Amino acid sequence: MARPSFPTSPLLPTRDLAGLIGKEQHFGATGRAIVAMARSAGAKHVATLHVTCSDEREKECADDFVSTVVRELGAGTFSRRAPMRTANLGARYEWGAAPLATDHFNASGTEGSLLIIKTSAHVGYVERTHEREYGMVEREHNTSTACGALGCLLDSVSQPFTHELELLFHSENVDRLGMLRDSTVVPDKYRPLVASLMNARLQAREALLDVGEAARRNPEQAPSQVLIVSSVSMNRPGADNELLVGFYSGVRDAAAPCGLTFTWTGLPSDPSALHINHRTASLVVTHDGPPTRWARGPKAHRDLPLAHLRAAPSEPAPAAVQSAVDDAVQAIQSDLANQKRPGAKLALAGAAVVIGEVMPIAGLALLFSSGAIKLHYAWRVHRVTSGHATEDEARALFAEVADNMDELSEAEARQVVDRLASELN
Ligand SMILES: [Zn+2]
Repeated sequence: MARPSFPTSPLLPTRDLAGLIGKEQHFGATGRAIVAMARSAGAKHVATLHVTCSDEREKECADDFVSTVVRELGAGTFSRRAPMRTANLGARYEWGAAPLATDHFNASGTEGSLLIIKTSAHVGYVERTHEREYGMVEREHNTSTACGALGCLLDSVSQPFTHELELLFHSENVDRLGMLRDSTVVPDKYRPLVASLMNARLQAREALLDVGEAARRNPEQAPSQVLIVSSVSMNRPGADNELLVGFYSGVRDAAAPCGLTFTWTGLPSDPSALHINHRTASLVVTHDGPPTRWARGPKAHRDLPLAHLRAAPSEPAPAAVQSAVDDAVQAIQSDLANQKRPGAKLALAGAAVVIGEVMPIAGLALLFSSGAIKLHYAWRVHRVTSGHATEDEARALFAEVADNMDELSEAEARQVVDRLASELN
């Protein structure tokens, strides 16, 4: 998406961090660069959130964030300083964590407040005949998969956590798993490594959307500055290393739809765009694109499924179907204007029934774009609208989100009906 009027350089003083992108290094370097940024920006209230895999080998990574970042920047008794932490299979960002972290650390809406989130994926490697074998790590009693959760994802093991990862890996309608499984795109020997780079990158995207959506709903509670750092721990014999994938930098911006503007500086979320090299026994990952780009916020992500459907000439809604939905929404607007109905929420529920019956897939895109569906459904809506789900799945998702629309306020429901009418015209 071309947005030339948006910033194309980092929004925070992140020069040290930018210099580390794509280069394997000892733990500590990224943390020190985060601290340098926070001090240069004059941050006063600093909230910290760290997401890691549950794998026991991630202890070094977790300890490093505490010792190099949190204990340097945190307030309160030194020995008790700790970040908010999520540790689960595959280092999945948990929706809702960022607003809680800003609240816990008193960084909600305070001047000079800074929210730091680090999403740490991981990959192991062992040395075999002077070449690294990625995806394995020496443990106490054996050598096994690392990251085990990403190994399950790549092997199509069906588990709740792999389903979540699969959706995220297909975000923005990009078939990253297909690319990772295609050895002409990603060589077999680098598949676990590239999967971990993608995971760290995409978990940061999930965090960005959560931060942006929370700021949109409660602008006065948003932190002044946001830094979301994405990295991969490299579990290996001896002390672990780390590779910085990139970072989002965000600042308050009254003109932005969610009240925050973000840029991304770092490696892209496209597996085919990465160049992998090993120089003097360390890994270097580069790419051809610009170092920093404007980052899609919540609104741009909401617009994606509808834009995708409109750009796909094979999937237009039949004229009769479009007309039925159009008529339903116009009737609702008319009823609302004439106060024939008790309220917009009921009217929207009525429209949703019509839309779900006649065009569940395009209807999901429409309702998502109009704000009727919560943002954390983004990847499920992407999957349906990109043609990767059956019509039955689409109808099931539609029924689920229709139930949740009851949580909209009357004012939000009225805005949704107006946006639906404007999208259909
Ligand atoms: Zn893992």
